Parts: sequence; structure tokens; C-alpha cells
Amino acid sequence: MAGSKFAYVRNFELPDPLLPGAFMILRLDGHAFHRLSSEHDFTKPNDERALQLMDHAARGVMNEFKDIVLAFGESDEYSFLFRKLSNVYNRRQAKILTTVTSMFTSSYVYHWPQYLPDTPLKYPPSFDGRIVLYPSAKEVRDYFAWRQADTHINNLYNTTFWALVLQGGETTTQAHETLKGTVSKDKHEMLFSRFSINYNLLPARYRKGSILIREPIPPAAQAHSESAIVSPDVSTAEVQAASTPALKPEKKARVKTTVILAHCDIIGDEFWASREYLLA
Ligand code: ATP
Ligand code: ATP
Ligand code: MG
Ligand code: MG
Ligand code: MG
Ligand code: MG
Repeated sequence: MAGSKFAYVRNFELPDPLLPGAFMILRLDGHAFHRLSSEHDFTKPNDERALQLMDHAARGVMNEFKDIVLAFGESDEYSFLFRKLSNVYNRRQAKILTTVTSMFTSSYVYHWPQYLPDTPLKYPPSFDGRIVLYPSAKEVRDYFAWRQADTHINNLYNTTFWALVLQGGETTTQAHETLKGTVSKDKHEMLFSRFSINYNLLPARYRKGSILIREPIPPAAQAHSESAIVSPDVSTAEVQAASTPALKPEKKARVKTTVILAHCDIIGDEFWASREYLLA
């Protein structure tokens, strides 16, 4: 189509490709969720319903974007790792970022009543997003270690802070003051001796965050799942064959995958050693 005499303005739309063969991590973060959580009476320090809603929205994104192999969520944020050779939307940055962010946001809003049935939304929540490229598996592992370490640091602080406020009768200002200069060991000790809270026994979801892992379904289980009702989590995805030479358009083996939710350690080697395909 030739188009109108106005069509030349299209030329001002510049391409925004993401470097081929680099790992893409997309991180979303709730806008002003400090306020959103207080306006909607989230349980402090951790509202489990709100965390489950985040997990649900993230799973929805992974059901649409089969190239996302791993996701990590804590608080009001979620990180998504795309497989290295993903060619989703021809690696157009804005297209990927805006579509994922808006899908996550609408899913969060859409499913809100299911998780917080007695708390109507007072206004529309939003999320910001960014995509960062990482050159090698090392940075990707360190990225996820960084987010999980952050989860732990924040949760330990917040758990102690809210114990001081809700059980210790301190004002929030006093609690901040009490915690000033304390190290991790002090907080563990304070929780245990003053509030009988053994930090290590708190739910793993709070301490470790949420990990959504795309896993291949073994062929035997696949045959079974085809005759049964197919769960919305089970879908055909393109998992890159391990032998594919880097940067060449990969030969795709169509493998059915499922997305599982875990709250495990992803800082140590064990998680990654048993899932080499995540970084292939
Ligand atoms: P910004 O717009 O800059 O991200 P923010 O208010 O969202 O600002 P964050 O640093 O992202 O600030 O922190 C999110 C805040 O949302 C947390 O500090 C916490 O107060 C609250 N929050 C998020 N999820 C939960 C939850 N599941 N339970 C309780 N509070 C939560
Ligand atoms: P893409 O994801 O690439 O944008 P698309 O299906 O959204 O694909 P568009 O080129 O954006 O394609 O066109 C949007 C289409 O949505 C229109 O062609 C039309 O069929 C439909 N549509 C959008 N708004 C309306 C409307 N108000 N009434 C009827 N149809 C509509
Ligand atoms: Mg932010
Ligand atoms: Mg935020
Ligand atoms: Mg945040
Ligand atoms: Mg459209």
C-alpha cells in the first residue's frame, strides 16, 4: 500500500533492537506500592494474598511468552529471564517491554478480586518496567542472586520492624531507631528473644521469594496430559536444543513445558546445576 502523503512520518519511528544472543531480563516494579499496600490494608510485613496475586500475574505472562524460562518475584516486583536466543517480536525492545508490562498489569487488576475479595481496588495500579541485557550466564546468575539476597535483607528488616511495632508497641519512628546500625545477627536475636520468632521457620515464600520455572514435560507425562484436561500452564514451547551453535537461527525441538512455582534457594549452585537448559 502506497499510503497517504502523510505516511512519511513513519520513518521517524526508529528501530530499537536488543543485542542478539544476549540474555534479556525484564523487571517490573509496582508504582508507589507503599501507598497501594497501605490504602488497601495489606498485612504487614507480608500480605500473602498480594504475593500470590503477583505470582498469578507472572504466570499469565509466562503462558503467553514461551521464551521466558525463569521468573523471580518479591514484594511488588517480578523479573523475567528470556532464553538467550529468543527472537520474540524480533527483539524489539519497546514492543516486548510494553506488551509484557501491560499484560502483567491488566492480569494483576483482573485477578485482584480473586485474591482480595473483600478489598475493592480504589484506583488503577501500575507497574514500571525495564529490560537489561547481560552478556553471559555469570551475570544472569548474579542478577538472580542479587534479587534473592535483597528479598532476604528486606524481609529480615521488615519482619523485625513490624514485630517491634505490632508486638513491641513501638511507633514506626521508634522501630526505625531501634534497628539503626543493627546487623543481620542482631535482628535474628531480637526476633527470637523478644518475640519468640524463629526467622528460619517463617514461610519460604517470604524468605526466598517466588521462583517460576519453565520445565519440560517428560514425553510419558505428556502423553498422559494430552488425554486429560490440559492445564492452562501446560503448553507447547520452543526449547532450544542444547547443541545449537550460538547466534545461528536455532533448530527448534517442540517440547511441551509446564511452569512450576518454587520458593527455593537460587544463589547456590544446586538450582542451576540441575537446570542447565535455563542458561543454554
Ligand atoms: P516505587 O514507585 O519507586 O517503586 P514503591 O512505593 O512501590 O515506590 P518499593 O521500593 O517498590 O516502593 O517497595 C514496595 C513497597 O510495597 C514495599 O516497601 C511494601 O511497603 C509494599 N508491599 C508490596 N508488596 C507487599 C506485600 N505483599 N505485603 C505488604 N506490603 C507490600
Ligand atoms: P497487533 O497486536 O499487531 O497490534 P492487532 O490485531 O491489534 O495486532 P491492529 O493493526 O492494531 O491489529 O488493528 C486493530 C484491529 O482491532 C483493527 O483492525 C480492528 O479489526 C480491531 N478493532 C480495534 N478497535 C476496534 C473498534 N473500536 N471496533 C471494531 N474493531 C476494532
Ligand atoms: Mg520502582
Ligand atoms: Mg515499587
Ligand atoms: Mg519494589
Ligand atoms: Mg493492535
